[in-house]
Amino acid sequence: MSENIQKKIEDLREELHQHNYNYYTLDEPTISDFEFDLKLKELQELEKNHPEFYDSNSPTLRVGGEITKNFPTVQHQFRMYSLDNSYDFNDLEDWEKRVQKALNKPVEFVAELKYDGASISILYENGKLKEAVTRGDGFQGDEITPNVKTVSEIPMQLHGDFPDRFFIRGEIYLTRKNFDKINKRREEEGLDPFMNPRNTASGSLKIQDSAEVRKRGLSAVLYQYISSEFPAKTHWELLQKAKSWGFHISEQAKLCKTLDEVKAFITHWDTARHQLGFDIDGIVIKVNDLSQQRSLGYTAKSPRWAMAYKFKAEKVETELEKVTYQVGRTGAITPVANLKPVLLAGTVVKRASLHNEDIIKKLGLHEHDFVFVEKGGEIIPKIVGVNLDKRNPENPEIQYIKTCPECGTELVKIEDQAIHFCPNELHCPPQVVGRMIHYVSRKALNIENLGQETIEQLYREKLVENPADFYALKKEQLLPLERMAEKSAQNIISGIEKSKEIPFEKVLYGIGIKHVGETVAKKLAKNFESIDE
Ligand code: AMP
Ligand code: ZN
Repeated sequence: MSENIQKKIEDLREELHQHNYNYYTLDEPTISDFEFDLKLKELQELEKNHPEFYDSNSPTLRVGGEITKNFPTVQHQFRMYSLDNSYDFNDLEDWEKRVQKALNKPVEFVAELKYDGASISILYENGKLKEAVTRGDGFQGDEITPNVKTVSEIPMQLHGDFPDRFFIRGEIYLTRKNFDKINKRREEEGLDPFMNPRNTASGSLKIQDSAEVRKRGLSAVLYQYISSEFPAKTHWELLQKAKSWGFHISEQAKLCKTLDEVKAFITHWDTARHQLGFDIDGIVIKVNDLSQQRSLGYTAKSPRWAMAYKFKAEKVETELEKVTYQVGRTGAITPVANLKPVLLAGTVVKRASLHNEDIIKKLGLHEHDFVFVEKGGEIIPKIVGVNLDKRNPENPEIQYIKTCPECGTELVKIEDQAIHFCPNELHCPPQVVGRMIHYVSRKALNIENLGQETIEQLYREKLVENPADFYALKKEQLLPLERMAEKSAQNIISGIEKSKEIPFEKVLYGIGIKHVGETVAKKLAKNFESIDE
């Protein structure tokens, strides 16, 4: 009996590994996502009832759930070097000359995209994923194996003719689509959005709960085989082999016979990168022949056989139409530059963040200036300078506002933060509404159906002005509101009713006391049972 179950479990694991391979490596799935999920659930159920057949490489571990309090530090058996940077074709030509001179032979290159994420080193033993470690300082990093296993593009079980033991390095990154999804969810939960996909990817790898990591939807690409022996003569062959074992390698990598081909590759991707769906910050060029790589060796910091070519951040000029000011839930004022729409890095840009008064002063911004706008790794573009040649001398300097644009109250400035605040906490509309939106957000009272729009309507109609007012609302008061269906009104009322059963810590977080975030709220709730206490 038990043997039958063991066989069933093993067969299912093997089958699911094969389907993962078909899907992620061959891009040729043979079953539907639904069928896959059914099989995965079946395996999960069997594993739960038979923990004696645990396997650290089971496909079920992809869904996460393992919690790591502290990631162990691990020495890299092979150091993870940095790359030398070049910024123009002259730098590249100089590098080629140095390489040619040292080798005195013709040299071929492999040109690859420089993925902008977090680098990772993964050890495989007997075809199984054994250990995954972050780059750290290059000598040692954090072991984050459970988190890396949640990344679908990283195989847990290899195929075909793979060496017994080797490391493979690559990049964990976030597609822009998944990055936007994460930020959309954060917005709904009343949290600040993340700044860029790169930091979010590396931050995600350090989350303690691997089930949360899974939700981030990370991607991976592998670009370097590392071992003391190589099963091939060139880097290019190694990439093809890695692919045949089940690794996701970059489709765009190109074997280049000459530096001119490398330059053409760079020129192409400098513009085509905006259509990629993920961020790259340059191109990496590697000497293809592994024996040539060996004779070139390393400097103190980087391999002599590789070079990174960094793209310049794209910069365009446009006219500043006006500066407007937003008031946040905490009363903080954010100045925003409204721009004449302009195409930048593949998207139309109409606004740029100015952060605070000091930044505006530093730029010396005048009304209707022509400004240079740049998009680096951040999603929100920034103004990096003013074209003084085009300034109309009659245009006055931008004057920072003195009073709140929403309620007219005089602003106060907290010196060490360089930020202005509207002190009218109780009656400034965006602050009042913002607090109520925070109160109903998912991590707080989680009142579904009661969204921003409805809260704004209710506030305009003077039906609510703080979270306590929600509990006095009646369905009859909701129905006259614009576009309010009977069913939605009922859902709102029952959502509010349901929220009364929510744990005290969420209430504490939801009422938005200064300095009481999720963690502090949890601690407070453990020690006190009610607000009065
Ligand atoms: P840097 O951080 O500027 O020293 O650049 C080196 C980093 O580039 C490496 O640590 C990798 O994380 C990253 N990288 C991205 N794509 C590649 C690639 N195709 N080959 C090698 N390194 C890459
Ligand atoms: Zn105000």
